[in-house]
Amino acid sequence: MKKAYSISNGEYSQIIFAETPGKAKAWCATEFDVDFVHAKAYRAKWADEYIGKEIPKEAYLKAGWWWECCCGTPRYEETAVVIDDVVYCEECKPEEGDKTNTLNVIQIDYMNHALRNQNRFYTEANDSHWNELVQAGFATKRPGWEEEMAYFQVTAEGKEALKK
Ligand SMILES: [Zn+2]
Repeated sequence: MKKAYSISNGEYSQIIFAETPGKAKAWCATEFDVDFVHAKAYRAKWADEYIGKEIPKEAYLKAGWWWECCCGTPRYEETAVVIDDVVYCEECKPEEGDKTNTLNVIQIDYMNHALRNQNRFYTEANDSHWNELVQAGFATKRPGWEEEMAYFQVTAEGKEALKK
């Protein structure tokens, strides 16, 4: 049975689901390109219920996580505006009916990461950043070799968006 772990590189954190703390640490080492001895993974019991599902931003915020708005401003629960599971600050929140294709810093980082690795990025199939990119036409998604995992690939449109 997989359990939720929080892994971090000190700046960014994410929730992953792994069978053991060791596997979670190994994942952290790969994900953030750090030595296994420096990799850390903490149990995140609050996220256990979201296995195989997308973790709603509200759940992250409620658990005390911050989320970055597209402008880079970290938002905590009190200050976040969550629309369609995307976190905004007051200034950036879209007007009614306004479709935003704005890349957030994590998405830019992920896409650059993918492009440095033969244009593929292996992660949780429900990763919200990648799935937003897929919806915007900036990425494609293929099933991974493990359940609940997927390969994401940046599209030509995505590469264009990165240049802006
Ligand atoms: Zn903002």
